[in-house]
Amino acid sequence: MKEILLVKYGEIILKGLNRRRFEELLISNIKKALPPDSYADVRTSQAITYVEPAEGADVDGMVERLKKVFGIVFIARAGVFPKDMDVILREGAEYLVPSMERVATFKVEAKRSDKKFPFDSPAISREMGGAVLRRCRHLKVNVTAPDTVVRVEIRDKEAYVYADVARVSGPGGMPTGSNGRATLLLSGGIDSPVAGYMMAKRGVEINAVHFASPPYTSERAKEKVIDLAKILAGYTGKYSLYVVPFTEQQLAIRDNCPEEHLTLIMRRMMMMIAARLAKRSGSLALITGESLGQVASQTTHALAVTDEAAGDVPVFRPLIGMDKDEIVTVARRIGTFETSILPYEDCCTVFVPKHPTTKPTMDKILKSQSKIDMEYWVAKAVEETEWVVIENE
Ligand code: ATP
Ligand code: MG
Repeated sequence: MKEILLVKYGEIILKGLNRRRFEELLISNIKKALPPDSYADVRTSQAITYVEPAEGADVDGMVERLKKVFGIVFIARAGVFPKDMDVILREGAEYLVPSMERVATFKVEAKRSDKKFPFDSPAISREMGGAVLRRCRHLKVNVTAPDTVVRVEIRDKEAYVYADVARVSGPGGMPTGSNGRATLLLSGGIDSPVAGYMMAKRGVEINAVHFASPPYTSERAKEKVIDLAKILAGYTGKYSLYVVPFTEQQLAIRDNCPEEHLTLIMRRMMMMIAARLAKRSGSLALITGESLGQVASQTTHALAVTDEAAGDVPVFRPLIGMDKDEIVTVARRIGTFETSILPYEDCCTVFVPKHPTTKPTMDKILKSQSKIDMEYWVAKAVEETEWVVIENE
C-alpha cells in the first residue's frame, strides 16, 4: 500500500515575497530531519509540501520526526491510488477504515486538479460517500458538522485519499534558520531547554553554551546537559555546544568580591563570555531561561544589571512572563522534563550567598566587580572553551 505525507505549514504563507524562501527552508529542514534514504521526493505545490516515502520506508517513524519540524502545522497521511474511479472507491474506502472507526459522522470533499478526470468534484464526493457508507456500517453523513472530513484529491498522476481525523499536529512556528542564529545559555535545569525550544520555534537557529565548574560540578552533570541538548536537537537539528570551564573564575569571584554580589557578578561574567562566544560563532543574540522574580538574580533590578554585561548583544528571555508550572507543562510536552529533574549540581548553585541582593545598582556592582580583572577571566574562559557537536539520535 503506497502512502504519501501531506505537510501543511502555517505562518510561512503570510510572509509575502519571502514565501518561496521559507518554503525552500522548510523542505531543506524536512529532509534534514528524515533519514536520508527514507524519502523519494519532497516538493511543494499550492501551500502543501508533499513528502513521498521511499519504497519500504518506516512511515510511522517519518511522521514522528516531522512532528518536531518547526513550521509544520499538521501532517496528513494519505493513501495513493491510480486514477481509476473503481479502484479509488474500493481501495480508498478500505484504506479509510481505521480512521473511520474513531468517528460517527463524516462528509467527503473532493478536489480535482486534473480537469480531464471523467468525474467532477460533486460526483467524486457522492460516490466516495456511498463507498465509505457501504464499508463502514456505523457511519452517517453530516454535511454541516461532521466528525471528520474525508478528502479525495485527483492530482496529475495519482489520487490521494485521507481523513482529517488521522492528521497529526506539528509544532507550528517558523522554519529553523529563517530568523538568524542565537546562543542559548544551557544549564541542566528545567527552564533553559524550554527557552531554547521557544526561540527555535520562532525560526532561530541555535547553538549553546554551558558553564561547568569541576570538581564542584560532576562529569555526570555535564553528561546530563549533553543529554538535554540532544533532546533539543530533535527540534532544532544539529548544533554546537560550547563547554566553558568556569571553576577558576568562580573561585576568583568568591575569594575577592563582596558576598552579597557573588551571584550577580558571576551571572555578568557568564553573559560576557557567552556574548563573546556568540559573536565568534555568528550568533546575533543570547537566550536564557530567566523568568521574572523566580530567584534573587531574576528580579527586575538584577536582570537590568545582568543585561548590561551582554553589551550590544540582545538577550532573549522567552520565559520572562511565565509561571513555573507553565514552564513545566512545556518541558513535559517537549520531552526535556524527565532529564531536567535528575539531581545533579549546577555551577550557579555551588557558591550561593546567604543574603543575595535583590535590588542591586549598577554602581555598586561595578565597584564590587572591580576587585577582580574581569577581562582577564573572560578572555581565559573563552580561550579554554571546548565544543561538542550535538545531534539527536
Ligand atoms: P534552569 O532551570 O534552566 O537551570 P534556573 O531557574 O535554575 O534555570 P538559574 O540557575 O538562575 O535559573 O539560571 C538562569 C539562567 O541562566 C538559566 O535558565 C540558563 O539560561 C542560564 N544558566 C544557569 N546556569 C548555567 C550554566 N551552568 N551554563 C549555562 N547557562 C546557565
Ligand atoms: Mg539553573
